[in-house]
Amino acid sequence: TLSLQNQRLYSEKVAKYEGKKDGQGNYTVSLIEGDGIGPEIAVAVKDIFAAAKTPIAWEPINVDPILKDGKTAIPDDAIESIKRNKIALKGPLATPIGKGHVSLNLTLRRTFNLFANLRPCRSVAGYKTPYDNVDTVLIRENTEGEYSGIEHVVVDGVVQSIKLITREASERVLRFAFQHARSIGRKKVRVVHKATIMKMSDGLFLQCAHNIAKEFPDIEFDAELLDNTCLKMTTDPIPYNDKVLVMPNLYGDILSDMCAGLIGGLGLTPSGNIGDECSIFEAVHGSAPDIAGKGLANPTALLLSSMMMLRHMSLNEFADRIEKAAFATLAEGKALTGDLGGKASTKQFTDAIIEKL
Ligand code: NAD
Repeated sequence: TLSLQNQRLYSEKVAKYEGKKDGQGNYTVSLIEGDGIGPEIAVAVKDIFAAAKTPIAWEPINVDPILKDGKTAIPDDAIESIKRNKIALKGPLATPIGKGHVSLNLTLRRTFNLFANLRPCRSVAGYKTPYDNVDTVLIRENTEGEYSGIEHVVVDGVVQSIKLITREASERVLRFAFQHARSIGRKKVRVVHKATIMKMSDGLFLQCAHNIAKEFPDIEFDAELLDNTCLKMTTDPIPYNDKVLVMPNLYGDILSDMCAGLIGGLGLTPSGNIGDECSIFEAVHGSAPDIAGKGLANPTALLLSSMMMLRHMSLNEFADRIEKAAFATLAEGKALTGDLGGKASTKQFTDAIIEKL
């Protein structure tokens, strides 16, 4: 297993942030606690931030869906809060399967044009997995592809879902991937695709990648077929430690969960939804209805997402301190939650982190 001394932190600069401090010297962050285990893990993050005296004032917002012109929408005051603060931390939101309102997660990404979903996965010291030193960085296009929500019945028994790929959205996320590679000191960007089959849609994404790569002569660029990436990453993920992977929406959704599996699962993996104006940070996992309300949830993924958020806000000192305490608690292994093989409650795990601050 990885030693604590070699633990890499998630707190690295993500994109520009132009929030302002209030009179008390705090930055205001919109907080969507979310469904299921959301409120429980949000309390954990708030308690740890308070104990570390992090200069954040939380502005809780409610995103229960409303219908606007026949479409699922976010309530206006929630939209205004995120627009004003330019930053939000978000718990998981449950989505009805097969029917009902459009995914609120998708609605948030579209409303704020959060075009890039950044999902790093780093091995956790003390937590035994088949590979000790995984450090993948995956960027997923976040607004279109198969998740465009364009679906219809052609005739009874035949349905069509449209995979939408545009040059504009592809270039935007690809440029972000190259910029991010540069900012975290990685020299290689790899596009993951299936342009052998999706000749036009993935073909356009790949063509955009070739074009954008010309703007970044200092970064090497190559491409790999998705199935090959899955095979190679599960066989040996370490050669991916020096790359930034970028891909269309659906592939990124699935491949990032596979990466999460490599480091110990969804309870440990953070993410950031990045836009030009606002960014929303969230755990990769869902609302875990099976354990909701029981005080058993692991808050690590949301906490690490909030560390990405702090670094995004240039609050590096606080991010480093909290993150080190969280990783030390995980490495010690005395107060782990059930998903990591321990017996601790969310509160006991949270208190153990606070003790180490
Ligand atoms: P899930 O991630 O909620 O749960 C999968 C499994 O992982 C469950 O056994 C759960 O108990 C466990 N788990 C997840 N997070 C955990 C944590 N922090 N601590 C301990 N165990 C944890 O996935 P699901 O069951 O497929 O989805 C449930 C709901 O969440 C659905 O409505 C889905 O649409 C929604 N969802 C939301 C988001 C999001 O808001 N970004 C992401 C994924 C799923």
